[in-house]
Amino acid sequence: MEAFREFVDTVFEEEAGWTDELSCLPKEGEPIPAELSASKITVDGRPCMLSIVRDISERKARERAQRRLYEIAADPERSFDEKLRAIFDLGCDRFDLELGGPARIDPETDRFVVEAVSGDHEHLRPGAEVSLSETYCRVFVDETDAAENDAATDTASITDPEATEFEGATAYEEFGVESYFGTRLSIADDLDRTFFFVSTAPREEPVTDAERTFLDLMGQWVRYELERERYEVTVEETIERLEQSNERLERFAYAASHDLQEPLRMVSSYLQLIESRYADRLDDDGEEFIDFAVDGAERMREMIDGLLAYSRIETRGEPFEPVDLEAVIDDVLADLRLRIAESDAKIDVGDLPTVDGDRNQLHQLFQNLLTNALEYSGDEPPRVEIAARRDGRQWIVSVSDEGIGIEPGEQERIFEVFERLHSRAEYDGTGIGLALCQRIVERHGGDIWVNSEPGEGSTFSAAFPDPVVRE
Ligand code: ADP
Repeated sequence: MEAFREFVDTVFEEEAGWTDELSCLPKEGEPIPAELSASKITVDGRPCMLSIVRDISERKARERAQRRLYEIAADPERSFDEKLRAIFDLGCDRFDLELGGPARIDPETDRFVVEAVSGDHEHLRPGAEVSLSETYCRVFVDETDAAENDAATDTASITDPEATEFEGATAYEEFGVESYFGTRLSIADDLDRTFFFVSTAPREEPVTDAERTFLDLMGQWVRYELERERYEVTVEETIERLEQSNERLERFAYAASHDLQEPLRMVSSYLQLIESRYADRLDDDGEEFIDFAVDGAERMREMIDGLLAYSRIETRGEPFEPVDLEAVIDDVLADLRLRIAESDAKIDVGDLPTVDGDRNQLHQLFQNLLTNALEYSGDEPPRVEIAARRDGRQWIVSVSDEGIGIEPGEQERIFEVFERLHSRAEYDGTGIGLALCQRIVERHGGDIWVNSEPGEGSTFSAAFPDPVVRE
């Protein structure tokens, strides 16, 4: 009584009315969830209370089932098959039907093959095959069937097989299916599937919109999972193929460059022998030709060494460790101090981060970028800036010069092996430096690119993403 008085007081305090959920206890059986709405009204000048009690068991069941569906779908402990089974059990419960499962269908060959089922049935067992036209799932193929289809949710239901001309069908005659509720899943490049829920007992109630939405939700989840699975398999296969082809290429580059070294050494040493032993018998032309040959052999050695280094970036790299890039740049500048002094270069180094990486390779990366910045500086003494900036979850470290720059159309090509934009008479080099840089950065999970204006200078940027990044 006290509680009732309190309740009346609450309603009278709230001008707009009052709503709450409660459990109603019918005379027999389980309490049912109900919604109580009450508001104050005035009848004949006297304040009265108008209250309505609404049975909300259907809404509660819907909410419960949806919550359960999300829980099952998000459960990291379950495999896809376990989730599917749990979801079909849930569907049977929700639709009040005996069993459910996915089936593969092929309208062209009129095939229907049960993939799995959530309960026991004499005929509807995994692997069982029937003509599609003998099943209720034919409603998705045969437009003339009088099932209760819903285009919005792509579901169909049959609760009265005789009225819907299924009385001759195997599913009805032999399997004894009296009620059906299903949906069709078409997945790109895959066989068609249907989800069926059936019962050997007739279902009195027609299928509700909420049930259609629920089945549609189930279908969407499975479609998403299947597509994701297919996508993951494709990605994994592609990665494996790429890794294999990469490995083959590396082995080839290694073997070729390694095996080429020996005959090249022979050519070089015999050229040197000719130079030293027969120098007095050679005329000017002869000497010049020998010089060309020595020069060519030397260039070839550099190229082979470069290729060898290139082929070893992945296979001979050191395990990653925290590397202070400021210390790396100090070492590189020490190595290049003669060149820097000779060219009167000015080099500014900003604050640089510590990243997880291969120290030697990072040294090689910045050595190549700095050497290029000094080499392609144009007529003025080189001006170079090394800086780092945070970009979201990655560090971008850049080496900028004020040199000759690169035409926009050439900015991708220079990262290819042996690609050069100038003759050796103009600038010395093998064309492998930037290709090495790219491979090193890629091994660190990053990316390298250049921004440049011809005549204005170039900025080479290398991005080091998390988890390589260390604050
Ligand atoms: P190499 O310097 O041995 O030729 P790289 O792979 O290091 O080989 O560079 C490829 C080409 O890219 C160079 O030949 C040059 O034309 C161009 N290049 C590289 N760095 C710069 C730079 N800082 N400024 C202008 N051009 C550059």
